Amino acid sequence: MTTPAAGAAGSADMPDYAPIPRSALGPALNDQGYYVGRVERNLYWVTDGVYQSAFLATRDGVVLFDAPPSIGGNLRRAVDEIAAAFPVQQLTALAGPSGAGRPPWSWTGSSRPPGRCSAGRRDNARTSVASGGRMYCVAARSAGTPIVIIGGGVAGGNAAAALREEGFPGPVVLITREPGFPFGRPPLSKTYLRSEEDVSAWYVRPAGWYDDHDVELRSGPSVMAIDPAAHTVTLDSGEELGYQKVLIATGGRNRRLRLPGAGLPGIHYLRTVAECNAIKREAAPGRRAVVVGMGFIGCEVAASLTQLGVQVTAAFPGQAPLERVLGGQVGALIGAIHRASGVELLPGDQVTAFEGTERLEAVVTAAGHRIACDFAVAGVGIEPDVPPVAVAQDNGILADELCRASAPDVYVAGDVANHLHPLFGRIRVEHFNNAEKQGAAAARSMLGSAAPYDYLHSFWSDQYEHKIEYVGHAVRWDEFVVRGSVAEGRLIGFYLVDGVVQAAAGLDRGGDPELDLDGEMAASARLVSARARPAPAVLADEHTDLWSLGRR
Ligand SMILES: Cc1cc2nc3c(=O)[nH]c(=O)nc-3n(C[C@H](O)[C@H](O)[C@H](O)COP(=O)(O)OP(=O)(O)OC[C@H]3O[C@@H](n4cnc5c(N)ncnc54)[C@H](O)[C@@H]3O)c2cc1C
Repeated sequence: MTTPAAGAAGSADMPDYAPIPRSALGPALNDQGYYVGRVERNLYWVTDGVYQSAFLATRDGVVLFDAPPSIGGNLRRAVDEIAAAFPVQQLTALAGPSGAGRPPWSWTGSSRPPGRCSAGRRDNARTSVASGGRMYCVAARSAGTPIVIIGGGVAGGNAAAALREEGFPGPVVLITREPGFPFGRPPLSKTYLRSEEDVSAWYVRPAGWYDDHDVELRSGPSVMAIDPAAHTVTLDSGEELGYQKVLIATGGRNRRLRLPGAGLPGIHYLRTVAECNAIKREAAPGRRAVVVGMGFIGCEVAASLTQLGVQVTAAFPGQAPLERVLGGQVGALIGAIHRASGVELLPGDQVTAFEGTERLEAVVTAAGHRIACDFAVAGVGIEPDVPPVAVAQDNGILADELCRASAPDVYVAGDVANHLHPLFGRIRVEHFNNAEKQGAAAARSMLGSAAPYDYLHSFWSDQYEHKIEYVGHAVRWDEFVVRGSVAEGRLIGFYLVDGVVQAAAGLDRGGDPELDLDGEMAASARLVSARARPAPAVLADEHTDLWSLGRR
């Protein structure tokens, strides 16, 4: 919430006018989520995150609605329009400069919720918006031309939300080929797959939010081309849309196995709700499934299917599940968890063919196994889903610290972004927390923020009753330090590069690094951000307070 800047009082035009104090704007503004920013001397700007009004406060407590061209116009009309947009009690609060009392008119109409304002008001918008104590300049070209977001996942949805929450008043269009509302995918391998939770619990914003906040959500169309020179996107229908800025948040698409029999019915991949529903239809107790790959998706699906009573065999390269990300020691513990739950693991093995006449009947592996099954789920990684666009790419779209792609006014966030991180260098991350935060960061960059996106990165995975939390980013490490008990399977593992703590993983220990603020994983996050170099023995020592190491 912004407090109008001081400084209007005592000007030549308004000698005794005092700026509207925060107290006059009142708690109602806070409670209702309205933002107020001072544009210039006596002109303030208010928005509920969607609709906006510029108004002039005078010594008489008069508020004139609209941008400067209409100041001095029909006061009554102005009042009507403001009342249409803002609950009247807030209008009176806004109208009263310090100590001036109520404005010299009364309004008896019932308050109507925001959302009734003409689009023309947006066109009259000033080029500043305010929230959270910050003022951002929106480029002058913004009038009438939307910010276009491509992709309705966590990144795209959060970008739209952030645009409104930061007070961007102009048009926003979110285009996504997936039906429904922007949502997070984590339940698709867990609670939704097990029919314990609906996807709506993972909506980025409630279904009605987009209409309420005047975000044009276009679910269904695919963007076929982005032309940064012309500032246009082209949809699969041939429709062309102009943009002032565009955010590419198109996520990833599943890698597909190209093996004999790979087209047989009964072979599944998991990214969308539709794909999850197809797996749910297969997952009856007593059926047999082969899980191909034991990365996060493979592990979580294997766990959920097992919990549903499906008999699971998992084939994967490497010696242990999640070995590539978490290392051999943690991977071995996760493998033991799966085995103890009844999953048959085939480490170091690769699927070479699928067999069946009408549909999948068996999976054949390089080691010579022929595993009879009713269905299979392949979790063999994703590729960044880059729409046709002439920007620099390398394992996704290259983004700078501000989430900008190489072409002007093109931004990128989420799984598709290969971002230049201030701490970790260039990284592409495939996790929920990043998509959520980077979507919002990209939106703020689009509005003129100069703050680099420096999220420390964290993610989680749920398998059975076990929880993995991870903070930092390490694709390679030269030392792995365990704090806790490998035997009991409760530990924090630290990934060190040249003695510096680069990342930490908690297996059933340490809490969520962002929610359990006093927890060991939160302390581990501090170590990562501080680039701490604790002696491994000290790090492993249960008697050492991890927080104390971060302060060094
Ligand atoms: C089953 C599953 C479980 C997961 N569980 C976890 C977890 O527990 N913890 C964790 O940290 N992470 C988890 N993740 C990863 C996390 O969900 C992703 O990192 C996140 O979804 C990335 O969000 P995004 O917005 O970048 O991309 P996405 O969610 O992929 O969204 C991109 C959207 O863009 C659309 N799109 C793509 N191209 C176009 C186009 N040309 N035109 C229009 N629309 C387009 C796509 O259809 C999609 O709707 C999981 C992922 C999956 C699949």
